[in-house]
Amino acid sequence: MAEEQPAKEKFYITTSIPYVNANPHVGFAMELIQADVLARYHRLLGEDTCFLNGTDEHGSKVPKAAAAAGKDVKDFVKEISGRFQDLSKVLGISNTHFIRTTSQGHKKASQKFWEKSVAAGDIYKGKYEGLYCVGCENYYNESELAAGLCPIHKTKPELLSEENYFFRFSKYQQALLDYYHKNPGFVKPASRFNEIIQFVKKGLSDISVSRSTKTLKWGIPVPGDKNQVIYIWFDALINYVSGIGYAEEDGTFKRYWPADVHVIGKDILRFHAALWPAMLLSVGLPLPARVYVHGFITVDGEKLSKSRGNVIDPFPLVSKYGLDPVRYFLLSEIPSDGDGDFSIKKLEARYAADLQNNLGNLVSRLTNLIEKNFDGDLPEEDPAPKTAENLQRHIEEFRLHEALAEIWKNISWANQYIDQVKLWELPKKDPKLFKEVVSSLVALLRQVTIELAPFLPDTAQKLNEIFSAEKIVKSQPLFPRLHI
Ligand code: ZN
Repeated sequence: MAEEQPAKEKFYITTSIPYVNANPHVGFAMELIQADVLARYHRLLGEDTCFLNGTDEHGSKVPKAAAAAGKDVKDFVKEISGRFQDLSKVLGISNTHFIRTTSQGHKKASQKFWEKSVAAGDIYKGKYEGLYCVGCENYYNESELAAGLCPIHKTKPELLSEENYFFRFSKYQQALLDYYHKNPGFVKPASRFNEIIQFVKKGLSDISVSRSTKTLKWGIPVPGDKNQVIYIWFDALINYVSGIGYAEEDGTFKRYWPADVHVIGKDILRFHAALWPAMLLSVGLPLPARVYVHGFITVDGEKLSKSRGNVIDPFPLVSKYGLDPVRYFLLSEIPSDGDGDFSIKKLEARYAADLQNNLGNLVSRLTNLIEKNFDGDLPEEDPAPKTAENLQRHIEEFRLHEALAEIWKNISWANQYIDQVKLWELPKKDPKLFKEVVSSLVALLRQVTIELAPFLPDTAQKLNEIFSAEKIVKSQPLFPRLHI
């Protein structure tokens, strides 16, 4: 009988689920890539990694966007959801699961969640009052209005009231504060954690979690009430459990829940760091370990907006510059834990400086010297390297840009060192030293390969092929000249 293997540790990571009223943009591409780095990193540590993304397909804006596109709403959501699934493929995302909130599994899970929350005494009927735009068939918050008018129709919304269901958010104020206190690393960066603590400390109001079918039809029916649908936020958050089989509470769900990391944008912090944990407390499920919060991307210094026409489509970006250059740019230029600016000029500058002239150049110089002087045979190797501790810390603290900067320090150092010792002169001048230097540079590149794998998987694979070949030969450029 085979010896029993110790159980692998599990790692469960999610991205937010984008709303399907529009095509993917570069900001969400960044979120996918950030989460992918973490998933790959944990997989390489040997953890049994589950990685979920999906699409948020309910709410009043979806039927409207479908109508505007002249499409049946079901066909429309399927098409846009398909675009997001394509995006994952194009970006090399290693997700293991994908959830659509219009799926049967999600519907069942949401209704089950709802019923459990009702059983806990946390859902009650109340009067909801809000500013409603008839044209949009949608309620607006004051903050969403433009000078008191509907941002789309430029008309004054009506004050409407309806009877719907509320979630007892207020009940969980102390429990949330206790959880934050016991889990000082719950939200990263710390500034966002502080923001959420202050928000909860001020006191929580119960929130409306359903809509009358008179004002919203495209949603999951409230169990036992045909005239109400579950409001989109309540249903959307449940994707993190429905996506891994909460409806049946099967093996996958038991294995992976609670999530180890939710990666989100800063605009949905309250939903993830306060409402979602309160919902989980209500139904008696354990809380996620961490919420990593990224900032926003501006383009050429301006906010992304359809009207400005500066929304960057990630698909042509990847076909023009290649996958790893796009991953590298988004991960290094935009700080994971803050805001950043996207520009084609900066992307091309980093492509040339960091990828072509630094990493690419190092590899071609080194492989050239090995081919010429060792007939392709590598001199004896240094022992296998380990990932530097500070690099691990940067990754675990969600500072992916700093992790990459750390890796690039070694790459730059290697190029400078080659210049300094005039490596190309050494085979004649000091063959013993030449051997030693080449061997340590190859060891350094092996380390770089391991460290780069979660960030730039294709490049890491190419490096691996180059340096583990029987005979090392001068490599093709890793990053070809751009045809611009
Ligand atoms: Zn309107």
